Amino acid sequence: MLNAMRANNHYDAIVIGAGPAGLTAGIYLSRAKLKTLIINEGTVGGQMVLTHEIANYPGVENISGYQLANIMKKQAKTFGCDIKSNIIIERIELSGEVKSLTLADGNVYTCNSVILTPGGRSRTLGVKGEDNFKGKGISYCATCDGDFFTNKEIVVVGGGNSALEEAVSLTKYASKVTIIHQFDHFQAFEHAIEEARNHPKINFVMESTISAFHGSENLESIDIKNLKTGNVHNFNANGTFIFIGYTPNTEFIKGKVEMNQGGEIMVKPDMSTNIEGVYAAGDSIAKRYRQVTTAVGDGTVAALAASNYLHELKVKKQKLIAA
Ligand SMILES: Cc1cc2nc3c(=O)[nH]c(=O)nc-3n(C[C@H](O)[C@H](O)[C@H](O)COP(=O)(O)OP(=O)(O)OC[C@H]3O[C@@H](n4cnc5c(N)ncnc54)[C@H](O)[C@@H]3O)c2cc1C
Repeated sequence: MLNAMRANNHYDAIVIGAGPAGLTAGIYLSRAKLKTLIINEGTVGGQMVLTHEIANYPGVENISGYQLANIMKKQAKTFGCDIKSNIIIERIELSGEVKSLTLADGNVYTCNSVILTPGGRSRTLGVKGEDNFKGKGISYCATCDGDFFTNKEIVVVGGGNSALEEAVSLTKYASKVTIIHQFDHFQAFEHAIEEARNHPKINFVMESTISAFHGSENLESIDIKNLKTGNVHNFNANGTFIFIGYTPNTEFIKGKVEMNQGGEIMVKPDMSTNIEGVYAAGDSIAKRYRQVTTAVGDGTVAALAASNYLHELKVKKQKLIAA
């Protein structure tokens, strides 16, 4: 750790993850003249780069996720933020005043504050064709993609609160919604079940699942498998929304910060975690709505709170030296 501090590998703040939450935190921290590093495992931009159009980010029209990510990245770099992508963190130490990160390439970085923004991923069905038609008929986000299916028939997979609530919200756009669920009952609140059951545009295929997706360029049909009989039938579907759960990318910090049973990081309103100097923001925290705008908002709050923490730490040290 001492070597890292001497080798100029010491930062005021290190942000883990370069999605919208992490890039926003990087913009705010480096603009506040704090030496900031963002370390990212995948492509800069996070889940944003998976979508061909972000239509609900205020102030910008007709922008792809990739373009929006590049603008955020450029903004962060302009203010002096260092960004390292395609990097694996091998070891992380968050307790104590100086935090340390050991990367797979052997480099060690230290800092006084960490902002965790590793995002997450929607659970997938893991069946044939699913990867081919993600963003081309298969979606995991009703708010993001519902509008693309105006006056079309769509399918929703799942039987929990998210599936039923999102199915109802999708009726604003779709002419008909078919919910496919693996059991003969739903695992949702009674009011959500009632609302879906009583909706004239929603119908149900129970004890069934999707066993394959078909199409050429875009999704054209699905195979629905009855789990009781094993029978499979093909069903025309240009749009399928899958709501079978969400997994935050927090395995690498398990046991290091407080999380709920679902692996979501627990934060206070200022995005601080239970560890001093450690903040979290974006899709990896325990919250209901996961959007670019909410990630950006969380990243802002986390960065401002971390800046304040770093300022107080500096004042405390100066007082100690003066005493
Ligand atoms: C297909 C799709 C379409 C979407 N469309 C829209 C839309 O139109 N509008 C909208 O508002 N929202 C949309 N969303 C949701 C939106 O993209 C997310 O809510 C948002 O990106 C979350 O931001 P984040 O920064 O918290 O995490 P992410 O975007 O998930 O970014 C996290 C980053 O952290 C990195 N990371 C993970 N683990 C580690 C680790 N151990 N070490 C270092 N780095 C790590 C990842 O590689 C990733 O780059 C869409 C999502 C998907 C999947």
